[in-house]
Formats: sequence, structure tokens, C-alpha cells
Amino acid sequence: METKSESDTSRHFLRQWIEADHAAGRTGGEVVTRFPPEPNGYIHVGHAKAICVDFGMAKQFGGTCHLRLDGTNPTKESAEYAGSIESDIRWLGFQWSGPGDSGEPGFYNASNMFDQMYQIAENLIKAGQAYCCNLTQDEWKQYRGVPEKPGTPSPSRDTDPERNLRIFHEMRDGKYADGEWCLRAKIDMASPNIHFRDPVLYRIRHVSHYHLGDKWCVYPMYDFAHPIEDALEGVTHSMCTLEFEVHRPLYDWVVDRLDEMGLLPVRNGVKIRTQQREFARLNLTYTVMSKRLLLQLVTEKRVAGWDDPRMPTVCGMRRRGFTPGAIREFCERVGVTKVESTSDPALLEWCVREELNQTATRRMAVLDPVKLVIDNWPKGEVKEVETANNPLDEAAGVRRIAFGGTVWIDRADFMEVPEKKFFRLAPGKEVRLRGACIVTCVSVEKDCEGRIVEIHCTWDEGSWGGNASDGHKVKGTIHWVDVATGVKAEARIYDRLFTDPDPMKDGSEGFLKYLNPDSLKVVTAYVEPALAEAAAGDHFQFERTGYFVADTKDSKPGAPVFNRTVTLKDSYKPS
Ligand code: ATP
Ligand code: MG
Repeated sequence: METKSESDTSRHFLRQWIEADHAAGRTGGEVVTRFPPEPNGYIHVGHAKAICVDFGMAKQFGGTCHLRLDGTNPTKESAEYAGSIESDIRWLGFQWSGPGDSGEPGFYNASNMFDQMYQIAENLIKAGQAYCCNLTQDEWKQYRGVPEKPGTPSPSRDTDPERNLRIFHEMRDGKYADGEWCLRAKIDMASPNIHFRDPVLYRIRHVSHYHLGDKWCVYPMYDFAHPIEDALEGVTHSMCTLEFEVHRPLYDWVVDRLDEMGLLPVRNGVKIRTQQREFARLNLTYTVMSKRLLLQLVTEKRVAGWDDPRMPTVCGMRRRGFTPGAIREFCERVGVTKVESTSDPALLEWCVREELNQTATRRMAVLDPVKLVIDNWPKGEVKEVETANNPLDEAAGVRRIAFGGTVWIDRADFMEVPEKKFFRLAPGKEVRLRGACIVTCVSVEKDCEGRIVEIHCTWDEGSWGGNASDGHKVKGTIHWVDVATGVKAEARIYDRLFTDPDPMKDGSEGFLKYLNPDSLKVVTAYVEPALAEAAAGDHFQFERTGYFVADTKDSKPGAPVFNRTVTLKDSYKPS
């Protein structure tokens, strides 16, 4: 497959930005980036894009990318989420590197810096750049005001450092309830940027931390913690999504303070001053992407879990049969811009189809089976069909499939009253059973409801291998599964989880009403015997039907379960 990786789209503004800094010597010879997920949920395809950007940029410049678990808000975080994030990133094909903060190269826990962050906050207090404030929530909003008008200073704004240090220590020591006091930076209550109006640096949360237990009851805010983490880790380029653009002045303010404190690291004689830039987040039609809403789908059992194959989570997509290469290619093609846009999941599907067409093992499977009996087949005779495992990959070899004259075919490959241009099986018409022989339909048997239960045919006894004995052309070819040796399997046919391209159009209250009631259909299929032992996670092209993967949770030897990744074809073409 032609990849986009070396095309013009990869020379995006972030790359140019890093290139210029690197060339000017501002990186000290090493580009360092980071991916900073909060372990409060499983990561989704939007995070995959950020991962491709963060790890991808470091790789392009021969640098390093840290994985930093940004566990600064203990209320929703867990070790389960932390573990899932690590394995999902590895599965996507990326590996963190760099010194690390606890023995594992490249791996950081933001919470390991809490002691240092606390000291930095104390330094700010001592320098008169931060103060403790006890406005109530309502007062807080009132005092902060609106962008067009200056805010009102808190009565605590000009209190002396000793008093503020004492209260800050009491906050840490558990003297106060959640929300009673907070620590604020003293910046500018008149700034048109609301985030600059004496933002909160520390808040009280009497909650156990998944990593540190009950050590702390005060926790740093993201806007304070993030630049400290970036700066002290020696990150040179910190990339995030556009919603953080308005926070950038505050990011720079914190880095300036660290600089004044002499805390910025030096690499090869160059003081490393981290910088932040923002790119547009990935959005997908027919999809919700916020972890909060995905969690809601899970807890309300609208889906079977975070790894439900309909979920846009990395683990869900993996279980659906998407490959790391296809997800990376998709992110590459979506590109990096500063303009919000919404991508079509059909592009992701196209990417995986392109890859699996090259790599997936071909097998025959009948998802809506009806029995076809060859009346003139010699009783008890079994022939063998030899066929390629992948016509695009000779190394995949061939397999032999038994054919005993009675087979399952797909109901849709037979029409009692054929439409125009229907070249498959119909009364009096002939069709090729793929790799086997030519058969002609002579009669059908129906049940009392008029449903066809058996199709009777005769075969052209000179057509073994697939060519008519008199050499005439046979247009239609259909797939089949031998009744005597075929194996029963469960097939899960997935469709979009939402019926509307924008399930969020009524806000986060209304998205559930656009859930697609037909997003999962479970069918009993018959598959060729080679599929009975399919290993979990193996990819297949079911001929003429689609790409499937053996389910990693429920598929068992002898009782396989297959998830449909994508249909075989689609009218979608990438631009
Ligand atoms: P969500 O908003 O979905 O709950 P989040 O932004 O809270 O996600 P974090 O764990 O804080 O999740 O994000 C880690 C990184 O992933 C951040 O740098 C963030 O900018 C980036 N990211 C999150 N969602 C997307 C997205 N849809 N597209 C691109 N990057 C994203
Ligand atoms: Mg977040």
C-alpha cells in the first residue's frame, strides 16, 4: 500500500516548528516530546492521533517521547486504566524512551513530582506570586467576572507570604474540607484571558490517589502541573489539542517562574525551555469520543464494555479487527492542522481494507446458509479442492478443502425469480461453486411457510476444477462450505453505533437516542474446517463477504467466533 508518510501532509506546521528549533540549537541536540494521558478511561482513536503526533514527531527527529501518566485528579483515575493505556500504546506500535522517573525508561508518573510541585508552590508563595483564597464557588465566579470587564481581586489577594504559607501547610495537613481553601497564582485580574485571572494552582481533595494512596489531600491543577512536568522532564515540544491554546500564556507563565527559580534543565549547555503548540482534535462522524460519554455507554451497558468492537476505543477497534498499521495510516491521512474538522469513519475502514486485502488469509464462510444438494453426485464420494490461502501472497501457501456434493451456500446467492443481471443460482440456471464444479438448479424444497430449505442441483461431471466440460463460459461464481466437514461458527456483524452523523447535535444529554438498534447482529454461520482452530486475533477475508477477525475473548477452538471488521467493498474513495 502506498503510505502517506513521506508525502506533503507530513510536513505540517508542528514539524516545521520543531525543525526550526532543532536547527537553531534550542533543543540541545535532542527533540523530546511526551504523550500525557490522564488514566481516567481507556484511550480512543482521538488519543491514537495524539500518540501518532507525539511519538511520530520524536521519531522523525531521532528524539525521544515520554509516556507520562497525568494522574493529577485522583477522583476518576485507576490502575486498570493506567495499565490499559500502556498496552494500547505498545499495540499501536510505539515505545516510550528517555530517562524515566522510576527505573523504567521513558515512563513517568506525574504524581511522582508532587513533592517538587508542592515546593514550587511554596516558592511562589514566598515570592508573593501565589496566595491562599477561600472564596466560595459562587463568589469565585462573581469575582472572576467576564472577559470584557476586569475581575475583582479576592480579599486574600494581598495577604502576606507567612499567612499564606501557614494556610497552604494546613491545607496539606488536612485541616480543611474540600473546596474550603485553594492556592491561586497572583497574575492579573484584569486580563482579557480568563485563565490569567489568578488561576487556581492547588485544590483540596480528600480522595485516595490510585498511585500514591492517602499521601496527599491537596492536588495540583492541570494548568500548574503540566508545564512543571514538561519542563522538569526536559520536554522540548509539548503538543496538545486546540482547547489548550487559551491556556498557553499560563503555561508560559509557569515556565517563566521555573526559570526564575533556576529549575529549567540544561542539555549540552543549552537551557531547555519547553513550549506548547496546539493542533485540531480528531473527530469522527457517527461517533462520540469523550471518555466521559464512552464511560456512560459502558456503565449503562449500552455496549458490552470498553472493548466492545463498536467502541472507538483502541481496545475496541483492536477487537473489531482494525490493525495498528491501518490506524496509523488513518491518522496520517487525516493530517495535522489547526482547523477543527470531522473525519469519515469510512476512511479508517478503507485503510484497514487496503491492508487486509494484502495480508488476510482467505477462507470460505456462509453467513446465511441454505443447503445445496447435488442429486447426481456419486454417493459417498469426496473430492478435494486446492486453493490459495492468499492469491496476493504466494508464501501463504495453499489448502485443500473436502467437497462431498452437499454444501451450504448463502441464501442471497439464489433467487427463485431472478432479477435482470443476476448471474448466480436460479431455477434452470448454472453457477460455479468456487474451485469445485459447475452446477445447475433443478428444483427447490420449501417448508410449510414457503421458505426454501434445500436447493437441488445436478453437476456437470466434466467440470471439476471449475470449467464447463464443453468449454462454454459460466458467469457466476459463488462460495460454499461443505456440509459434512464445515464447522458451525458465530459471526458478529457490526455496524455503526450511532444512526446520526452527529450524535452530539442535541448535546451530551441527547446522544443516546441516536444509538443504532441494529449495530450488532449475531448470526450462526458455517465455515470451512480450517477456521475451526482460528487463533484469537487472526484476520481473515471471508470470500465475497468481508474481513473478519477471530474474537479475542469468546472464540474457542472448535467453537469459533468471528467479528466483522469491515465489508469487502465500499464506494468510498479517499481524496
Ligand atoms: P476526552 O476529552 O476524550 O475525555 P482527554 O483530552 O480528557 O480526552 P487526556 O487523557 O487528557 O484525554 O488526553 C491525552 C492527550 O490526548 C492530550 O494531549 C489530548 O490533547 C489528546 N487528545 C484527546 N482527545 C483527542 C482527540 N480527539 N484528538 C486528538 N488528540 C486528542
Ligand atoms: Mg483531559
